[in-house]
Amino acid sequence: MTLTPDVLRLLVAKALASRPDEMSCGECDARLDRFAEISLAGRDAADALPLVEEHLEGCPGCREEFEALMDVLRAAEREGQPWWRRLLARRG
Ligand SMILES: [Zn+2]
Repeated sequence: MTLTPDVLRLLVAKALASRPDEMSCGECDARLDRFAEISLAGRDAADALPLVEEHLEGCPGCREEFEALMDVLRAAEREGQPWWRRLLARRG
C-alpha cells in the first residue's frame, strides 16, 4: 500500500471513527444525571456534554436509561417536587 493523500485521508477517517475519547457506558452513566439536569433546565446538553450526547446516539441501553431518568425528573417537576435539583446541587 502506498501512502498517497487519499490513503492517508482514509486512515485518518478510520482513526477518528474509533476515537480514544469515546465514552464507555459506565462513564456515560456517571454523567447522565447532569446531562438530564441540563436538558430539563432548557439548556443545550449536547453542547455542554457532547460525549454523553454522542454515546446516547449510539447506545440504545444508555438511551433507554436516559429516557427513564427524564421521565422521572419531568414527573417530579410536574408535581412541583423539584427534589432532584437539591439532590444534584449537593452532589455538585
Ligand atoms: Zn452505553
